[in-house]
Amino acid sequence: MRAMVLKQPAPVESSPLTLEEVPEPQPGPGEIVIAISVCGVCRTDLHLVEGELAPVRERVIPGHQVVGRVLRRGRAAERFPEGARVGVTWLHRTCGGCTHCREGRENLCRAASFTGWHHDGGYADAIRVPEAFAYPIPEIFDDVDAAPLLCAGVIGFRALRRSGIAPGGRLGLYGFGSSAHIALQLARHWDCEVFVCTRGDEHRQLARRLGARWTGGAQEAPPEPLDAAILFAPAGELVPSALRALRPGGTLACAGIYMSAVPDLSYAEHLFEERSLTSVTAHTRRDAEQLLALAAEIPLRPETTRFPLERANEALQQLKRDQINGSAVLTLGVA
Ligand SMILES: [Zn+2]
Ligand SMILES: [Zn+2]
Repeated sequence: MRAMVLKQPAPVESSPLTLEEVPEPQPGPGEIVIAISVCGVCRTDLHLVEGELAPVRERVIPGHQVVGRVLRRGRAAERFPEGARVGVTWLHRTCGGCTHCREGRENLCRAASFTGWHHDGGYADAIRVPEAFAYPIPEIFDDVDAAPLLCAGVIGFRALRRSGIAPGGRLGLYGFGSSAHIALQLARHWDCEVFVCTRGDEHRQLARRLGARWTGGAQEAPPEPLDAAILFAPAGELVPSALRALRPGGTLACAGIYMSAVPDLSYAEHLFEERSLTSVTAHTRRDAEQLLALAAEIPLRPETTRFPLERANEALQQLKRDQINGSAVLTLGVA
């Protein structure tokens, strides 16, 4: 099968992913092999390709927003019939037995492993995953629209919950990429007023089209105090201005897996009056199931730009330059 393989992290401008012919994976017990039709491109893939996320294997196929159909089932894998349409997310497997797993916070499992990092991901014609970590895709979505829901959507959903935003509240979004443009749609569904701080006029236009009440530059102060905010940009220098924009008691949730250094904070200016600063770490299976159900009910409409598999480097380069509006996806089995 074809795969885009990362052997050595390097600046994405040097096109570190190479197209290779690799053996098709075989399912082990409880596993399925999926014929991939679409794989979403996530900023985490960029962090992996460029080495900000340290590689854990000598070679890896990135990609963790996979939509496809069950091609083969391993022994005792009976959850999905062959041909069933399923999705794969960042969470590849958890231990199931640790305190975090038992408390419903498997996203914090110390033994968790991740798709497209510890295990080969979806920048390929096929992928092997535990069937317990695959998800049925609601019929309302075609493959392309479903792919960005599987990380951008799920993380946006978890970030909204971590931020404590309530229906009708005032929400700030810092950075406006794939995840933020889905989080905005969720927040609007909950009748929140959304304020978007981002560089890039096209991102601001998309935010307004999706219902943002106000848009401004990355460091600009929203016109009203925010009940909650989410920092999607991997830019620690935005933390102080985002905290300053909160009302007393408000929460800032940082949604990325990687962030540049956070500058010194002033207790009085940024944290006092019970402002909270928190993070979002991966997701649980329940997050993914709930987000997919909610996405179908609304329904969410991701804005997508398609690239063929062999142009994965280019998709990541455009993502790095903030040139993707909404979500980039790699198409494999679809035109
Ligand atoms: Zn992701
Ligand atoms: Zn665990």
